[in-house]
Amino acid sequence: MIAPRRMGPLDIESAGTCDVLVAGSGAGGFAAALTARLHGLDVIMIEKESLFGGTTAFSAGVIWIPVNSHQKAAGVIDTREDALAYLTHHVGNRLDRARAEAFLDSAPAMLDLFEREGIAAFTLATSWADYHPDEPGASQGGRSLVPDDYDGRALGPWFTRLRPPIKTMTAFSGMMVGRNDLPHVFSMTRSARSALHVGRMLARHARDRLRHSRGTRLVNGNALVARLAVSAFERGIPLWLSSPVVELVYGGGRVTGAIVERDGKRLEIGVRRGVVLACGGFPANDELKRRLYAHVAAGKRHVSLPPSGNTGDGLRLAQSVGGTFHGEVHQPAAWTPVSLVPQPDGSMVPFPHFFDRGKPGYISVDRRGRRFVNEALSYHVFVPALIEACRDDPQAEAWIVCDHDAIRRFGLGALGPAPLSVRPFLRSGYIKRSNTVIGLAEACGIDAARLERTIGEFNGPARRGEDPSFQRGADAYQRFNGSPDHKPNPCVAPLDKPPFYAVRVIPSELGTFAGIRTNASAQVIDSDSRPIAGLYAVGNDAASVMGGTYPAAGITIGPAMTFGYIAGRHLADSGSQHPAT
Ligand SMILES: Cc1cc2nc3c(=O)[nH]c(=O)nc-3n(C[C@H](O)[C@H](O)[C@H](O)COP(=O)(O)OP(=O)(O)OC[C@H]3O[C@@H](n4cnc5c(N)ncnc54)[C@H](O)[C@@H]3O)c2cc1C
Repeated sequence: MIAPRRMGPLDIESAGTCDVLVAGSGAGGFAAALTARLHGLDVIMIEKESLFGGTTAFSAGVIWIPVNSHQKAAGVIDTREDALAYLTHHVGNRLDRARAEAFLDSAPAMLDLFEREGIAAFTLATSWADYHPDEPGASQGGRSLVPDDYDGRALGPWFTRLRPPIKTMTAFSGMMVGRNDLPHVFSMTRSARSALHVGRMLARHARDRLRHSRGTRLVNGNALVARLAVSAFERGIPLWLSSPVVELVYGGGRVTGAIVERDGKRLEIGVRRGVVLACGGFPANDELKRRLYAHVAAGKRHVSLPPSGNTGDGLRLAQSVGGTFHGEVHQPAAWTPVSLVPQPDGSMVPFPHFFDRGKPGYISVDRRGRRFVNEALSYHVFVPALIEACRDDPQAEAWIVCDHDAIRRFGLGALGPAPLSVRPFLRSGYIKRSNTVIGLAEACGIDAARLERTIGEFNGPARRGEDPSFQRGADAYQRFNGSPDHKPNPCVAPLDKPPFYAVRVIPSELGTFAGIRTNASAQVIDSDSRPIAGLYAVGNDAASVMGGTYPAAGITIGPAMTFGYIAGRHLADSGSQHPAT
């Protein structure tokens, strides 16, 4: 243990104390740290890994903020009552109303403060509907916001410490493709404007690669985290890397500090106000996944997307001082299907299937060759349907199947659209191809006769834009993810142009939903629901405010940032007579 020495107020290693210690450098951690700092507190951020950004850096960085101030200019009508009605209806009896209301009350203020201070910058996705847009109070678009691009060069030497995006989600050695780039990528061979947009992306990337290990035009979660990090550094918040918080110090009825491992030493850092746990939940904890994920408990394959450092440390730390675990959520994690992309070194890197499933010309089938779900529904709905369809099978796995027109227009999984070549993906075995449906089924190990029947039955109505089995394309969310120029139904087209292609998908998660019980002020609470003084949990360390459901795009990072903001303000208030404004 290092003896505390008094030096500069933020020189924590020598001073030994600070107002607030934040464990974890994702969206939740940065939001808490920056809010506390904006309110005048001395803050230190502690990150376990050698890279900062956590799952947030892998993500699309989308946030869900009902009644946000961008809506007015875009002509979007939204009310707090509608948003609460939607959550009440969708989450049902698992909704913690006090936390949900705290989220709705504080989220717009968080966004306004962060944008005013230059800490965050977002663009409203006006037609990105909530995921269940026909439920009461749902929005047809305008509650989800996409982070603006950011220039990674602003990070200076820290750029190499920003967690890069998942490899399979970049092109040409590290070029990021954002949510707003996708329509251009899909239309680059049909529209001069789109071709120009993609051409500019490629030119910038080519220039970047002369000087940098990857592209510096950051989009999605990388842009969000980089902007947060630069804002934190500018405001004098130190960030220690490779320094896990391993213990909490508790005394006199409150958390008074934390033990951090750094350079082989155990350092005690005292806190005057509190510790914020923002360690990103437990997606890398195999034991907890065996306990909480039914398909994993049944021995079925599951490959997690989040980084390997998210091992549930926050949960363990909270429980060590009386915090409690809340596993009574609809789903223990935010599910998504992934395919596994073979790498030259023999390893497999997952690719999340957010969009291709619901585009025209694609269906998903189980090994019996049956469709089992409306493929255009959200990833969080798709995976439970897949697991259920494969209940009696040795594995939970399905195939996304498409025809030649579809793959050239939209790609398939990690393969982008034409002019990108299918060949490397065929060679690696990632994608299967055949001139006949029967041949494709045999290559995948799917019941061939049944697949042929399934596609035949699908194609007839699909020619009229109909899907009598699952009503694909029936709501605004599905149509948003379809292809707007495809008529009459943006989500449905027959699979009738050989060759046919397929990729296998299995369950994965974007992050965990079960977590530490917290109150509306983001304080960790004990089994009697009393707050543990000096201890907060935000992001995926806290149990999902959505009760384990996934109502819309951005429902984990929106609340992560909002409860980070709430924690920061509460910490500021906790030592003053004057409440934070
Ligand atoms: C591909 C993908 C796309 C996604 N897109 C979206 C999206 O658009 N919108 C959305 O809302 N959600 C999205 N998600 C989910 C979202 O990324 C996560 O839910 C969210 O980023 C979690 O934020 P966090 O702050 O809780 O944790 P993280 O961002 O995971 O950060 C936690 C950090 O804590 C560190 N840590 C762990 N243990 C310790 C310790 N003992 N001491 C110190 N540090 C520690 C970790 O190393 C990590 O860096 C996506 C996820 C993926 C994988």
